[in-house]
Amino acid sequence: MGRHADSLAPPRGRAPAASRRNFWSYFRTTNMSDCKKASILIVGSGIVGRSWAMLFASAGYKVVLYDTVQQQVSSAIESIRQQLTELERTGGLRGTFKPEEQMMLITACNDLAQAVEGASHIQECVPENLELKRKVFQDLDKLMNDSVILSSSTSCLLPSKLFSGLKHVKQCIVAHPVSPTYFVPLVELVPHPETHAAVIEQTYALMKDIGQSPVKLNKEIDGFALNRIQYAIIGESWRLVNDGVLSPEDVDLVMSAGLGMRYAFMGPFETIHLNAEGLKNYCERYAGGMKRVLSSFGPVPEFSGEAMEKINQIPPQGKYPLSNYPVKPSQNLRSPAILLNSYEQWPNLLNISLHARKLA
Ligand code: NAD
Repeated sequence: MGRHADSLAPPRGRAPAASRRNFWSYFRTTNMSDCKKASILIVGSGIVGRSWAMLFASAGYKVVLYDTVQQQVSSAIESIRQQLTELERTGGLRGTFKPEEQMMLITACNDLAQAVEGASHIQECVPENLELKRKVFQDLDKLMNDSVILSSSTSCLLPSKLFSGLKHVKQCIVAHPVSPTYFVPLVELVPHPETHAAVIEQTYALMKDIGQSPVKLNKEIDGFALNRIQYAIIGESWRLVNDGVLSPEDVDLVMSAGLGMRYAFMGPFETIHLNAEGLKNYCERYAGGMKRVLSSFGPVPEFSGEAMEKINQIPPQGKYPLSNYPVKPSQNLRSPAILLNSYEQWPNLLNISLHARKLA
């Protein structure tokens, strides 16, 4: 991949000459079509592993599923088959291949060494447990060559905790998907301090190629990006209820009938750019107000006690009583059919948003 080879920085630290040569030559010669001939190995065939398998297969990649529990792999294959059929029926199937063509790309393997052989990208999807993940990476580190990329799906474990000490640390990266992964395109790419620049670029290109929207964090940070922004919203929402300013229902309405409508289509910077005559003009006008309001924010809430009781009694519980749910809300969110229903509303929302932009 010449374009990336030009931007390669010298590797930090001392790597054995032979491994450095293999590593570099891989990034000089590989391109996405070569990648497609190679396999993606998914380690852990649970909810996220299955979604990744579907995403890669939808873009024509060969996928090998591995799990320590054999039954998990068999049920993953069956569940993927059912999901693809249902997605085709409801018009939500990704890519240009038919379900049966996608299924032909997905195979199972119960021997880790064999599964690693020939893989160009390994996507780890085992449970969120640092010790377990480190053990998995140590095993993979012994088996992997100097060209494969080792990527973790972790939701919040830092790369420095996950990958430090591995022989192939330069080839390691976090690629954090957002649930439900098949429908939500964002992937947060978080490098270890020693991750090679080419590994970040290669993973970025791979994510783009399967239709995802990767973002690159230049360095690791607790909570990555999505959760830091999400927690800022939850924190202030909580304080507004706790301080008796708003009812919990009205906080939800501020998002669902206000901010959320914009933020479904554009980020905070694009929003402020359109809310004035450009971003600079917005800051000239509103920086004082923003700083005054931001400096009045209270301390980090405890997320318990009286406020918890108050928020726990609000209509969302009445609107969506958990006991009446046919499946758990978390599973509901992952249900393609339910999401597709709500996605059907998106064109309407998009029109509203475009109209709003014209008015802005
Ligand atoms: P899960 O419990 O559904 O699946 C984990 C799978 O890993 C199971 O099939 C289990 O048998 C297998 N496994 C356990 N030990 C293993 C080992 N040593 N080698 C191979 N396989 C092993 O978990 P999940 O919800 O799919 O989450 C996987 C990862 O993805 C976690 O790090 C999680 O934080 C992250 N993640 C989850 C979500 C989500 O919504 N579920 C979203 C984004 C990221």
